Amino acid sequence: MWQGLGLENALFGAHVPAMRERWTEDLVCPNCQKTGRAELSQTDDQSGDIEAELVPAGFKVIQLEHSIIFHCASCDIAVKP
Ligand SMILES: [Zn+2]
Repeated sequence: MWQGLGLENALFGAHVPAMRERWTEDLVCPNCQKTGRAELSQTDDQSGDIEAELVPAGFKVIQLEHSIIFHCASCDIAVKP
């Protein structure tokens, strides 16, 4: 008796772990000239969400719906990537 068909179907639909693209961005505060290097990653699924892997000291991350921006922690203004 062959019972493997259901298992094969299950494997065919199995979720493949998402590959993550990673990169770094050099941040410079336009006010106090503080610099830092942030490490970001993006999930390779439909959402395309970006996450901060590493937030440099003196900066804070602002999570938006599908992206993120960085603020200088001392000046509380957006920094340019
Ligand atoms: Zn600043």
